[in-house]
Amino acid sequence: MSEPAGPPAFHLLAKPTGATCNLDCSYCFFLSKEMLYPGSRFRMADELLEAYIRQLIEAHRIPQVTIAWQGGEPTMMGVEFFRRATAYVEKYRRPGMTVEYTIQTNGTLIDDELAAFFKEQDYLVGLSIDGPPAMHDAYRVDRGGAPTSDRVLGGLEYLRKHGVEYNVLTTLHHANADHPVEVYRYLRDEVGARFMQFIPIIERLPAPRIDVPLDELGLSEGLARKAPWQSWRDRPLYRQEGSLVTDRSVSAEQYGSFLVGVFEEWVRRDVGEVYVQMFDVALANWHGEPPSLCVHSETCGSALALEHNGDLYSCDHFVEEGYKLGNITETPMAELVASEQQVAFGLAKRTDLPRFCHECDVRFACHGGCPKDRFIHTPDGEPGLNYLCAGYKAFFHHVDQPMRTMSRLLTAGRAPSELVGWTLAEDARVQAAVARAGRNDPCPCGSGRKVKHCHGAGT
Ligand code: SF4
Ligand code: SF4
Repeated sequence: MSEPAGPPAFHLLAKPTGATCNLDCSYCFFLSKEMLYPGSRFRMADELLEAYIRQLIEAHRIPQVTIAWQGGEPTMMGVEFFRRATAYVEKYRRPGMTVEYTIQTNGTLIDDELAAFFKEQDYLVGLSIDGPPAMHDAYRVDRGGAPTSDRVLGGLEYLRKHGVEYNVLTTLHHANADHPVEVYRYLRDEVGARFMQFIPIIERLPAPRIDVPLDELGLSEGLARKAPWQSWRDRPLYRQEGSLVTDRSVSAEQYGSFLVGVFEEWVRRDVGEVYVQMFDVALANWHGEPPSLCVHSETCGSALALEHNGDLYSCDHFVEEGYKLGNITETPMAELVASEQQVAFGLAKRTDLPRFCHECDVRFACHGGCPKDRFIHTPDGEPGLNYLCAGYKAFFHHVDQPMRTMSRLLTAGRAPSELVGWTLAEDARVQAAVARAGRNDPCPCGSGRKVKHCHGAGT
């Protein structure tokens, strides 16, 4: 039998409850995807669960596979569903095969029994927390509009009690993006997270009149406008279209300065202790290794999404009719993953880059970002530039020197955490030079600004 021509491994986010969730986060685009399946119960049936596990294992030609649950809110399925999944894994895993389990959850339904199960099966739990309660509760509310941070922290307590491994996913939006250090310290010190990912909220809005150019309406690309909906109940089906954004969205500049703010704290004490996904990804690109995140890889297409009824989509962000590859009960998963449609989807990330990106000095680190966010024009008018471009540039330029240093340390077989000492020594050197300089002299840090507007400000 000939082997499928697809990738030897891929990442699949399975959504056993589809888009359904017990919460109603105002910025969540995914809740509206319920409309794709009118009349559905949104529960993955047992026969499909078995077919999914079997096909996922068979489609992997390497001896490692990850079972990744996502939503909606997957814990709504209840612990017995996940026990059955484990039983199917044991039935189909090949000798010597390593199986890892991950689940992304809002944490509010985690109880003693579920946490004990996660520990028993060595789950890695991704918890969605947007920062200290006031920032978290700005948009992460339940279906009655009530705040949820207490319930999330309750779930976290169960994870801690059972010693479950967890990391944190924080979305960046209007309510928290201006507070990088506060958010980071909260996650590190109060939540105890040792692995964090920061995901920008970019909620696209179509123009009010599709037949009229934006400038004739007095609008411009990337402009934030008041979100016309606060809940999935009054939200139309979300699609990746439109070049305006809601006022909940993070701006490119906010995103860049958030990452810089976190980096400045991290680089002085936490390198090697706390893992921030974006910093790991940047280091991989500076060091010439494939990054672990599709967004900053040259091509994509190896991170697919499976709906509760077996429909397979190109990506979690493209659960839309035009990106459906097929249904795994009708066509084997391996065939769908290897399909021309999926290969073209992944390659388009590179081929559709505008010239502005090709000429960019940080393209090796950025690769144009995720195609879903490429909805603005370049300065010379070419379409397809990433909405976050200004933020990416600011961040990647800011970390250039430290990333080079860490890469050199890695090449020399030394620990990247040595960067902490290097940074503190550099801080001391700059401060000593600032003390000797005049207020109108160029700042010794090399920023190009005067001392009084840089390291000497406020002295
Ligand atoms: S479309 Fe974006 S999120 Fe999806 S696989 Fe490609 S880079 Fe990743
Ligand atoms: S920083 Fe901007 S111009 Fe450079 S590759 Fe990224 S999106 Fe393109």
